[in-house]
Amino acid sequence: MRFFACLLLSVQLLGGWMYTTIVTANITLIADPKVLSIPITNTDEPLVNLTEQTEIAYGPSPEIPNNTEYTYLRKSVYEKFRNAQLLLPKGLHFCLYEGYRSIALQKMIFDKQYANVKTRHPDWTVAQLFAETTKLVSPVINADGSHNIPPHSTGGALDVYLLDDSGKAVDMGIHPKDWMQDVDGVLSLTASEMISATAKMNRSIMSHALTTVGFVNYPTEYWHWSYGDRYWAYMTHHPHTLYGQYKM
Ligand SMILES: [Zn+2]
Repeated sequence: MRFFACLLLSVQLLGGWMYTTIVTANITLIADPKVLSIPITNTDEPLVNLTEQTEIAYGPSPEIPNNTEYTYLRKSVYEKFRNAQLLLPKGLHFCLYEGYRSIALQKMIFDKQYANVKTRHPDWTVAQLFAETTKLVSPVINADGSHNIPPHSTGGALDVYLLDDSGKAVDMGIHPKDWMQDVDGVLSLTASEMISATAKMNRSIMSHALTTVGFVNYPTEYWHWSYGDRYWAYMTHHPHTLYGQYKM
């Protein structure tokens, strides 16, 4: 116990970036060549708009005002999401932060985060800045210049947090809307040790429900889950994706 207390103290003293670097050392990042080598298979499975249902809540327009696309998910993804919600303890509910995201919005977010990281680490190489940015945002153009298919552009990815019965967000360590303020990703890491015991418990409850129905988490963001995209295929040893880019 004393060892772990000392370890935690040392880790806190190391600072956010060092902590994240240590924890993410064993995480496969979303733009890793191993993930990008997964062949894309697409289907014509339609999207479901959460504004046309009442079972799963959704938050306000994320990232930009008047975003009308973030409430869309592939039909199977929506059904899994609904089934996962049935597994939550009484008094807790999902709230979708963001589902579908266009390539144009993805590029805007990536560029903004890249600039944030560069401001914080002006001496880093382009490769370092790119890798650090991909801890929280999937690129539109890969490091080798090829086009990427970001998870949210497939309709298979969703960002989610928990609400209580009154519709208030519960403590999850950091609200997804504040992700850009967590520049080093310390609080966003699913396994973060820098959050309260309550937040850890809420993350664990959410993870259990979503994992049970077949979603895969991106371990640098507790709120990001997907089914049928490249990261899902890589983590579940599926030979190809179920979804490619969906064009609205
Ligand atoms: Zn996401």
